[in-house]
Amino acid sequence: MGRVQKDGVQEEVRDLRQQLERHNWRYYALNDPEISDTEYDLMLRRLHDLEDEHPDLVTPDSPTQRVGEAPLPGFESVRHTQPMLSLDNAFDEKELLDWEERIYSLLEMEPRKPLEYMVQPKYDGVAVELIYLNGVFTQGITRGDGEVGDDITQNLRTVKSIPLRLYEGGGPAPERVELRGEVYVEKEAFDGLNARRVSSGMDPFANPRNMTAGALKQLDPKLAAERPLSFAVHGRGFISDLGFRQEREFVRVVRSWGLRPAHYSEVHRSIPAVYEYVQRLQDLRETLPYETDGVVVKLNDLEKQQKAGARSKSPRWAIAFKFPSKQATTRLLNIQVQVGRTGVLTPVAELEPVELAGVTIRSATLHNYDELSRLEVRIGDTVLIERAGDVIPKVVKVITAKRTGKEAVFDLPTHCPVCGEKTVRAEGDPFIRCPNFSCPAQLQGRVRHFVGRGAMDIEGFGTKLIEQLVNRSLIHDLADLYRLEFEQICELERMGAKSARNLLKGLDRSKQAPQARFLYGLGIRHVGEHVAEVLSTEFRSLESLGQADLTSLENVHEVGPIVAKEVFDFFRDEQNLALLKKFQEVGIHLTAPDAKPESASSDSPLAGKSFVFTGSLTAFGRDEAGVLVKERGGKVTGSVSKNTSYVVSGSKSGSKLEKARSLGVPVLSEDEFLTLVRSAVDE
Ligand SMILES: [Zn+2]
Repeated sequence: MGRVQKDGVQEEVRDLRQQLERHNWRYYALNDPEISDTEYDLMLRRLHDLEDEHPDLVTPDSPTQRVGEAPLPGFESVRHTQPMLSLDNAFDEKELLDWEERIYSLLEMEPRKPLEYMVQPKYDGVAVELIYLNGVFTQGITRGDGEVGDDITQNLRTVKSIPLRLYEGGGPAPERVELRGEVYVEKEAFDGLNARRVSSGMDPFANPRNMTAGALKQLDPKLAAERPLSFAVHGRGFISDLGFRQEREFVRVVRSWGLRPAHYSEVHRSIPAVYEYVQRLQDLRETLPYETDGVVVKLNDLEKQQKAGARSKSPRWAIAFKFPSKQATTRLLNIQVQVGRTGVLTPVAELEPVELAGVTIRSATLHNYDELSRLEVRIGDTVLIERAGDVIPKVVKVITAKRTGKEAVFDLPTHCPVCGEKTVRAEGDPFIRCPNFSCPAQLQGRVRHFVGRGAMDIEGFGTKLIEQLVNRSLIHDLADLYRLEFEQICELERMGAKSARNLLKGLDRSKQAPQARFLYGLGIRHVGEHVAEVLSTEFRSLESLGQADLTSLENVHEVGPIVAKEVFDFFRDEQNLALLKKFQEVGIHLTAPDAKPESASSDSPLAGKSFVFTGSLTAFGRDEAGVLVKERGGKVTGSVSKNTSYVVSGSKSGSKLEKARSLGVPVLSEDEFLTLVRSAVDE
């Protein structure tokens, strides 16, 4: 009996994997999905559950196994079987024509017949090589110096558009396949990631390429998995049994294996046609979903490629047409230091105004002090600046040849430029910080955050007003905002009686704000809007959040150890506790997350209850069960804590069941759960 059941599971697992691979292929390679993301996620979840229950069925190429377990101590060096060469550049049509001329003579083609060229956008990302053995993704290597790169397999496994197993719908893949391509991030995903970082009090990434390179260099694959990376194939190393003779066919083969070839891959039969393509792509450049810096042009015919051959560093049969750069040079007039709400000092370059991609640039970020010392920038230097996407322009490098000797070295600030406190810098921290919690610049930043959208959302608090409040010592902390008096506000510049009244009204209204917004407004590091929401729902009141120990914080779904620690520390800091007490005194009365009397399901027995499911259910899947709970006003979390109302246990429940018992959380069988759900329906 058991044997039969086991075979059934094995078959389901195999079937799920095949289906998932197929849907990956449709999604990434064909850009033509047949099912919704939700359906895909449900299948993946089902596979996860089956593998949880039958760990012996887990294989490394299962779509569930993207994030490996342990961080690496370091990367190992690996030699490429064929060197990863770089391409020569062309900057105009004439240089393309010259290149074609050289190819004709290398090929000794007389009389000349038209040549075919494969053209593709040149992604601005990080080049890597993937090695598949018998269809299974086995190793991923950085380009390195072209000969030897780093083994970053663990990190590349987390990139969803890299299949862990080649799709073999069109027949088995060759024994050894070496593919080359670009890891990149789509502009939208990059902007989203940066927005989340900023809302969590972290610094945004300078540009997409840096973010990508940084992600691939993480020793802990979990960190790489958090970055929204994509992958596109643009070339190959060694492939046993090629089975194709043209770049055009290679694109088709890549797609059939479930990988994404470079978008807009086209074949053209003359250099003027290639140049037209280049111009077309250049016009599209800003609207493309990813950053490009040019077009790659290759001979379409593989035999001709071979005949044209390669120099030591670059092939002769391919060339990169480079787009005009989004870079410009200008003079750096001064370096200003800005102090943020968390005390981070950010150096900002003041520039002689310069036109760049249609915009006048007056300042550029120098990011942090590691960057500053890497650049060795001096005041008065001529610098190269770059604007990538909509990101703030940044200084790329110093043109040292233009130095006159009159440039002034910029010393790291030993004291905060605003409050004068001695700055600190923790080991390994690229940032210098002002440690003074009462620093006016920090307080201004905290107020801006506290009254801003997503937090208390109080209208009328402009930068100028906040500056005055802080500089005139009308407020010393956030709670003081609620002690402001009508006369005090009226006396400020640009404030009349009407705006003062509105401001006070807004402040008063905010006393009833939802707790999550207040929590976000406090500006605890790493606690963005979403995490604040999650914490509020889980702990109901600030008191119980404040009392929560590290383990129960970490147990909250979507809260990791770093966030847990920040929250834990925040509620153990004397200054913060005093501030919270003061908030109470001024009459902050927050709306608890579960106080929604108008909710239709409020008298359902499931309302406000939290459920954890474990083991496999027979009547329905976990997701369906989750929907049943949510429709009746309850919620589902991933792990058991003392705040869990019920654990619903199917067959083969494991550690969650034990934990529920040890915490005294009521355990329901599937039937008992159904009875509870039905009672909610009948009411
Ligand atoms: Zn300061």
